[in-house]
Amino acid sequence: MLNIVIFGPPGCGKSTQSARLTSKYNLVHLSTGDVIRKEIKSGSELGIELESIVGKGELVPYNMIIKILESALVQNKNSNGFIFDGFPRTIDQAIDLDKILAKDKQEISTAISLCLHDKKAIERLLNRAKLEGRKDDTENVIKNRLKVYEEETYPLISYYHSQGKYLEVKGDCSINDIFYNITNIIEEKMALAQIDNNILNIL
Ligand code: ADP
Repeated sequence: MLNIVIFGPPGCGKSTQSARLTSKYNLVHLSTGDVIRKEIKSGSELGIELESIVGKGELVPYNMIIKILESALVQNKNSNGFIFDGFPRTIDQAIDLDKILAKDKQEISTAISLCLHDKKAIERLLNRAKLEGRKDDTENVIKNRLKVYEEETYPLISYYHSQGKYLEVKGDCSINDIFYNITNIIEEKMALAQIDNNILNIL
């Protein structure tokens, strides 16, 4: 299985790249943000609760997120792998994801971060607000999401770095260039993993 984590500040383009990676490698795209927005749209009781949290740019409590994750993993057990987009968002979530995958003898293959300066992120999201009208794309909420990213999600860099899985790609280029750079590093990484495997088999 090819299990890719993709993360970066709001506006870095992770959803766009995830959609492309999903079709190139025939993976399942698990976007916690999309699942949450769907629930909000349904108008359910849970949706109303989620709306008030997401609308402030805060993180959704762990017990709600973990249910989304586990049900997606169970439903897609026989897939080629996953793109985890929006999960993990904290070190605790990353540790749990490793544990959940390990139960099925699986692991994260690589974690890619898309880097982008705050100024550019705010500019992109305000533009998106005009087109899509996402409720959490107002200037104050964007600033809070960036702060939450910095405090809660940015530490994932050292987490995956220490596992030798961390890869970084610049998010301030065209969609095609970013995709080209991501697929290059994924394929390099897969080729190296294959070489390691072959050596292990010989030994
Ligand atoms: P962004 O474009 O800001 O990265 P997403 O579309 O991935 O946002 O997620 C939107 C919102 O959904 C987040 O701001 C957060 O409130 C909530 N959310 C998504 N994934 C998680 C998660 N793994 N843990 C907690 N909250 C989450």
